[in-house]
Amino acid sequence: MIRLQRGARLVLASHNPGKLIEIAALLAPFGIAPVSAAALGLAEPEETGADFAANARIKARAAARAAGTVALADDSGFAVAALGGAPGVVSARWAGPGKDFGAAMARVAREVGDHPDRRAWFTAALCLAWPDGGTACFQGRVDGTLAWPPRGTHGFGYDPIFLPDGHAETFGEMTPAVKEAISHRARAFAALRAACLPA
Ligand code: IMP
Repeated sequence: MIRLQRGARLVLASHNPGKLIEIAALLAPFGIAPVSAAALGLAEPEETGADFAANARIKARAAARAAGTVALADDSGFAVAALGGAPGVVSARWAGPGKDFGAAMARVAREVGDHPDRRAWFTAALCLAWPDGGTACFQGRVDGTLAWPPRGTHGFGYDPIFLPDGHAETFGEMTPAVKEAISHRARAFAALRAACLPA
């Protein structure tokens, strides 16, 4: 595993604008301004992995190979205990081609019904890949409970129905700074920072 230098060129292999903004903000203090895979016109590989880390590795490897530089990919999702961990790796797909997360959140509420187990969690995997094929992957998770009806207009995806443990506001009600201090992506990023970012 190689520690990146300040000012390193890095491609961010995500096409999700919400995540691009969050990850760019996390990298900024280390002097790294990522270029997005979309800006470079890189194709999005198919996410065929069985878990978040496998999918992040697929995306990071493809971008590193295509761009000839270090690449960082994220894969993340929302899991609901009463649904056996669904939607999990297909969290984005539950919103359909129109990215309708109102419908995706309604589906969660419908399928959970009055199940007594309200536990839910977000998981994020961050994977760095080097053009020579080497990779380093890190994971983070934040636990909480389902909120219904949805609350708040901040964030993206399933944020309005997730109440993190120990907090009175959903991710959708929190300002970005508060969410970013405790999020699954922040926790994965802390592990990545310790191992791979400039000291
Ligand atoms: P990915 O682009 O395949 O990683 O899709 C992850 C999906 O999980 C997103 O489209 C959201 O639906 C959901 N997700 C991941 N992280 C978050 C978050 O921080 N808030 C809300 N939804 C999230």
